Amino acid sequence: MADMLFKCPHCARHLVVEDSAAGETLECLACRQPVLVPKSANAFKCPSCAYDLSAPTKVAGKFFHCPNCGSSLIVPATPTMRLPVNSFGDWAR
Ligand SMILES: [Zn+2]
Ligand SMILES: [Zn+2]
Repeated sequence: MADMLFKCPHCARHLVVEDSAAGETLECLACRQPVLVPKSANAFKCPSCAYDLSAPTKVAGKFFHCPNCGSSLIVPATPTMRLPVNSFGDWAR
């Protein structure tokens, strides 16, 4: 289980959801528009606290804040592991 970082397509606010919500439509907390949670995301770890995170490739290179420790981080452009949304590998610790 990891938290997914992505952007609201309507207001560009940074959003965080559990990646088990991939493919679901949620309401943006900021603009109240329906937002489709991206289905494919790349897994990476927070460089500050090693918290498991994921983000869709279209936000690679963008600044986000870690939902666990609050540090700013840059979503890696070339992640080392790809997250299959419905399976849990050894990396998920
Ligand atoms: Zn929004
Ligand atoms: Zn962190």
